[in-house]
Amino acid sequence: MTDLSRYARQSVFNKIGADGQRKLAQSRVAIVGMGALGTVAASELARAGVGFLRLIDRDYVELTNLQRQMLFDEADAADGTPKAIAAAEHLRKINSAIILEPVVSDFNARNAETLTRDVDVVIDGTDNAAARYLINDVCRKLAKPWVYGGALGSVGAVMTFLPDGACFRCLFPDAQSGGESCATVGVLNMLTGVVASLQAADTLKILLNSPSLDRRYRTFDLWNNVFDAIEVAQNPDCPCCNGDYTHLNASAVDVPVSLCGRDAYQVAGRGAVDSDALAQRLRGIGNVKLNAFMLVFEGGGAGFTLFPDGRAIVKNVKSADAALSVYAEYIGG
Ligand SMILES: [Zn+2]
Repeated sequence: MTDLSRYARQSVFNKIGADGQRKLAQSRVAIVGMGALGTVAASELARAGVGFLRLIDRDYVELTNLQRQMLFDEADAADGTPKAIAAAEHLRKINSAIILEPVVSDFNARNAETLTRDVDVVIDGTDNAAARYLINDVCRKLAKPWVYGGALGSVGAVMTFLPDGACFRCLFPDAQSGGESCATVGVLNMLTGVVASLQAADTLKILLNSPSLDRRYRTFDLWNNVFDAIEVAQNPDCPCCNGDYTHLNASAVDVPVSLCGRDAYQVAGRGAVDSDALAQRLRGIGNVKLNAFMLVFEGGGAGFTLFPDGRAIVKNVKSADAALSVYAEYIGG
């Protein structure tokens, strides 16, 4: 029997209680993205005693992340540790009684079902519409609740989607665009903290079947002190709600993805790469750093981080084609 006394300040709260605390210990949550939202939600849920957390992220820690990504430190940035690994290491020191499963990968149409099938709730810690439509499709298909969160500048939004009622595509029928991102507009860490905490609170309410769950689309502007919430009706013509899971179509996986505001693209690769042999070859033409998680290369004006599954983040490129040609030239395929 797990010792739950460490959660005394939470289980004494009458909406949770000892039974609720035991339920949380049996609960499983996947968090897609270990950025500003994911690190805060993961920290809160780990400390709250949620028994299993899957921490999914494709990227590595950089110095500019530390302003808002609350689980990382300067050593993680200096080492360029994958965010999923760094997050799991820090959380393990905070709560060794729960299971933490880091997944260093993008969340894509090929792995989405595997990564969500065995959890109770999925939390959106991503920063782009494509990932959210994918989470929406897979969660609707597998009848899993998920919690959306968005943050830009001082404006945040949160909405929880259950297997019934409106879905994310009912709310936003078409991919939003406009070119605004955290890199160009900025984002307050207090905002991402509030958004992630609301997501974590909603997750707890879902796990405990609380009648207090708010299903409205909630928005707020922390700087201008505006808080709002609207009901979202299900769209009878919504493709997703009618079983058309367009975004689960795996054909999109191989197209390089632009990473928010970084002149960097993710290239999917063609499968496992012999990192040792490649490192040997690349040492002749630039700087190579190799560890168990990745190979980092800088040289000849090119730079990339290559993961063992063949996926790479190519730096200093302005187009998908440029990223593919760097990949072909230095890695192969
Ligand atoms: Zn819908």
